[in-house]
Amino acid sequence: MAGKILKNARIFSGEKIIDNGYIEIKEGIIADWGEGSPPYSDSSWDLEGLSVMPGIVDCHTHLLEFGALGAQKCRGAAQKMGGYANLTKALQAGITTLGEHFLGHPVLKQNLDEYKEIINNSPINIRLCLGWCIIGTDPLTFLSSHEPGGIIEMEDISDTEIGWMADNSQFPGESIFVNATVANLPPEAVPNGGRELLGFLEIKQAVERFKNKNKKLGAHVEGESSIRNFIAAGGKVLHHGHGITQVLMEEMRKKEVDWVITPHGGTSSPPTTPEEIALALKIGLKPALASDSYLPVHPEAFYLISQNLRGKEIGPGEFLHLIYNLSQELLQRGVEKEEILRMLTVYPARIMGIEKETGSIKAGKKADLIMAQGFWGVEIDDPEDINMVIKDGGPVIDRF
Ligand SMILES: [Zn+2]
Repeated sequence: MAGKILKNARIFSGEKIIDNGYIEIKEGIIADWGEGSPPYSDSSWDLEGLSVMPGIVDCHTHLLEFGALGAQKCRGAAQKMGGYANLTKALQAGITTLGEHFLGHPVLKQNLDEYKEIINNSPINIRLCLGWCIIGTDPLTFLSSHEPGGIIEMEDISDTEIGWMADNSQFPGESIFVNATVANLPPEAVPNGGRELLGFLEIKQAVERFKNKNKKLGAHVEGESSIRNFIAAGGKVLHHGHGITQVLMEEMRKKEVDWVITPHGGTSSPPTTPEEIALALKIGLKPALASDSYLPVHPEAFYLISQNLRGKEIGPGEFLHLIYNLSQELLQRGVEKEEILRMLTVYPARIMGIEKETGSIKAGKKADLIMAQGFWGVEIDDPEDINMVIKDGGPVIDRF
């Protein structure tokens, strides 16, 4: 017996766009899909040409920790509620998988068990990365997932703690900060933002500690010399990477280092430009586009947002709007629509190591889908244009 069938859909499968096709869903999994009419007689749902694609995979977010206080202003016992509010926003925007971070907030205290509880109770697919963080204040501020809710000393992070982080990290997010972060603070509050804090040897040590646990290391990195050190030390996923050069991109391809691009900011350096993204694709890199939610847009990326969002921290819904504007720039530079969509689905799923279960429409993968008036971020720019979000075969957001 056939499963639930969606027919007469315009489909982006991860590989290609087809104008008219069908998808069969059985027990939360994509059982079959193809072009034309479904080869089954069961009653199917006629989508009348709506666009269907895999749910978005945002592989760099801070929704449960920094975003709980930042975007939702929730504190203390309300932290969890703030996190849930942010997760709801993500789902409403068509994001079905998150690469979320637990780095240790100076005020918020949620521990690993509480994160796991949220993750297990949420319909969104969340992978957690644990790490420690250095904020570019003067003096520097050190934070760590092993002691959330306070400020630590650098010496507090021993082999044991790093081993624990590696053990519990489920994808290579920004576990370490090669450069001090500006952390959404105004420039005058973070005079040390961007400063190189970990050199080649320190990065290599962290790489080895993760390797011992069979994990790849990802890091927050900016600037040419830090990026070069990170690649040379065996780092595997470069987050942000603002200030990259063509030579370094070629080096990344050779050494199979992945890149999570935040085109709107996240470091003290000017963010990655559409020209650089087009170049990276041409060189053969398969980067991901990520929101780093919640994040204020760097002034040099104001071209990506409307006037009213300047200076505001933007989250999942605004990220859709921002990607739409970026897409128009990329399309003008000859990047294919399918390739832009892959940077939001297939590539981040691969970077997170979950490409076998999600990120594209293929028999055997999770039925995590978006039905909308057009394809996410290349044809639509507003979450309201998403009619339905399907997670594990069932609707979780319904605007019909
Ligand atoms: Zn981040």
